[in-house]
Amino acid sequence: MAHYLDNAATTPVRPEAARAALEAMTEGWGNPSAQYVLGTKAAGRLQEDRQTVAQALGCEPEELWFTSCGTESDNWAIRGAVELGRRKGKHIVTTAIEHAAVLEPCRALERQGYEVTYLNPGRDGNVALRALEEALRPDTILVSMMLVNNELGTVLPVAGAAQAIRTAGCPALLHCDAVQGFLKVPFTPGELGVDLLSISGHKIHAPKGIGALYVRKGLRLPPMILGGGQEGGLRSGTEATAQIAAFAAAAEAGRKSLAQDLSHMAALKEYAVKRLTAGVPGLQVLIGEGASHILPITLTGYKSEVVVRFLSDLGIYVSSGSACHKGKPSHVYRALNLPKKERDGVLRISFSYDTTREDVDALAQGLEQAARQLFPALS
Ligand code: PLP
Repeated sequence: MAHYLDNAATTPVRPEAARAALEAMTEGWGNPSAQYVLGTKAAGRLQEDRQTVAQALGCEPEELWFTSCGTESDNWAIRGAVELGRRKGKHIVTTAIEHAAVLEPCRALERQGYEVTYLNPGRDGNVALRALEEALRPDTILVSMMLVNNELGTVLPVAGAAQAIRTAGCPALLHCDAVQGFLKVPFTPGELGVDLLSISGHKIHAPKGIGALYVRKGLRLPPMILGGGQEGGLRSGTEATAQIAAFAAAAEAGRKSLAQDLSHMAALKEYAVKRLTAGVPGLQVLIGEGASHILPITLTGYKSEVVVRFLSDLGIYVSSGSACHKGKPSHVYRALNLPKKERDGVLRISFSYDTTREDVDALAQGLEQAARQLFPALS
């Protein structure tokens, strides 16, 4: 039996979402732009799905635009905000622990003459508001701060960032990459005070290939893709109705069981911390605070890729860091200034509503076995 403990990388599609996608593909498959009944039905369903995802996020349907993934949402938000602010300045503030979907567009903008300040985290894996306050300038046009860090689970002070921008009186728009926060920590875009916020379907048990961008009412972003005028002319391309239906079904299910899921994952995290630190020699929790679905640990002296492969052979799946790094050393652990021996041994364990204590027990046993068999030969 497989034990999947890498839910921050992606999640299995939940049955409600798979059923909704199948229905959209086999029955509601019309083009929402078509004038005949098959089309108007698809358009009606699309409107309902937008409403459903918006309700789960806590915003108005008119504030939510579907994209193909979290990466697209991040790219659109950053490029769009910079375009809107082009007459006001050329300075951007973000954090050194953002996902590549934020860092890479920022680096591209640097090559075009923008100045980007990257805020470093402290040893607690979080970014201090004071650092942001010091970085803000009259020409700062964008602040991009993630809600939950995908490798550490830390919850960044996004609402405080909104306040800091207001206090500084600079023209910056605030974007938040909430891909790891949506339905994992309670929030609404309004409570955070953000202008733009990215989410992604495959982190909440919908299929890959669907995401959304929240754009605060009153803000008109420049279009992401030009073409047939779908998504209010902002993001053309025939709508991915099956993925959208699945996204809505997953969001609705997640919204309804949010309180229960959060306490389930918090209890599992607590159990995992106790079970793993007691059973596996040398194992340390890297950061215990933060979102309940992510637990970074380190096995000092081990190579995490080796441990990941060892566990995989036992049918236990965890990450050696963000799946997006594909074996490259993580910029997040580097930003934490961990000693190399600790950094090399980092594993990320991540939970979901359907993770069980048996999964954690299997991991503990797998790691105990790894400690016996791998150490010290492969360290
Ligand atoms: N932002 C964060 C924090 C993520 O964890 C990820 C995916 O791992 C992304 C953005 C990218 O989302 P997507 O895979 O939907 O492009």
